[in-house]
Amino acid sequence: MSEAPHDALSARFFDGVHSRPHAALLQTRERMLLITPTEEGAFAPLSVPLSAVRWPERTRHGGRLAQLPDGASLQALDVGAWDDWVGRHHRNDSWVVRAQQTWRSVAVALVLLLGAVAAMYQWGLPWVATGVTAAVPRSVDALVGQQVLASLDDSLLKPTTLPPDAQQRIRDGFARMIHRAHPDGAPEVQLEFRSARDPRFGPNALALPGGTIVLTDALVELMPGNDDAVLGVLGHEFGHVLRRHAMRQLVQASAVGFAVSIAFGDYGTLIGSAPVLLATLGYSRDLEREADAESVRLMRASGISPRAMATFFEALERWRTDRNGKKGEKDGTAGDDAIGLAFSSHPATAERIEFFKNAAQE
Ligand SMILES: [Zn+2]
Repeated sequence: MSEAPHDALSARFFDGVHSRPHAALLQTRERMLLITPTEEGAFAPLSVPLSAVRWPERTRHGGRLAQLPDGASLQALDVGAWDDWVGRHHRNDSWVVRAQQTWRSVAVALVLLLGAVAAMYQWGLPWVATGVTAAVPRSVDALVGQQVLASLDDSLLKPTTLPPDAQQRIRDGFARMIHRAHPDGAPEVQLEFRSARDPRFGPNALALPGGTIVLTDALVELMPGNDDAVLGVLGHEFGHVLRRHAMRQLVQASAVGFAVSIAFGDYGTLIGSAPVLLATLGYSRDLEREADAESVRLMRASGISPRAMATFFEALERWRTDRNGKKGEKDGTAGDDAIGLAFSSHPATAERIEFFKNAAQE
């Protein structure tokens, strides 16, 4: 008998593709579930946020099957040992299980849920969405972000063709800018350079849940030699990351779904529908204003004039006019809404340009 690592649980692992299970060992580390094959090489070890695993209800009878986000699953070998282990390692589980064990708690949960829905309609969805977002574990943001990026890579984006030194220069400038404005620490961001498959996506940037920021080559090339504008746009996207706007929009778009997810700790369905939702959602003027204000804050901390953003918007407007001229059409919107939350999906209003010009004078 081989020696099991400390506090590991034996289980059967189904990869979601093949029907044959593999013997696996489950361990946790920093709120992640690590799944390793008992037999080396049987499958690639994987790690999944604990909160993204759909843990089964603890019933008095029957087996235990936990669903992983990508269709894979885990089955208990020894139900008693499983319950014990899950209870110790998955903090959220214990109260959910306790709650589910009495119909009274279920009734209370239902009343709370209806109350939340009523509150949303009574006092406004955005306000309630902020509160609900706070209850969504951060690990869900990261998982949604990964899913959306993978889906964008399959459809809209392809690898960057920017020279590595240009990428590095922007990375360095962005990191420096964040550090200067937030010397005490800021949320982690991951900058992803991509080229757009569809030229209509054009100069663009997008902040995904979890801190991934996508930047298109066309945006960097819009104003050659002028990194200030690129940094200003990144500062705006950082504002969305800082305030968790993308997740908030998702919560708002499927408020009831999220309330149910939070009540039962099951985010699988919502994570799956995130790419489609994000493609159709846009930011409100208020959220854009908040992100613009953060952009100004970051630029100032780095000694960049906010005027760079006004200049950028003008260049973007020229690009838009040129493109529509070439198309021989006047619609001006085709393709811009390919991703609702993307930076140039909402043409800069005179108000926004004015905001950056004024900020430059202060
Ligand atoms: Zn924005």
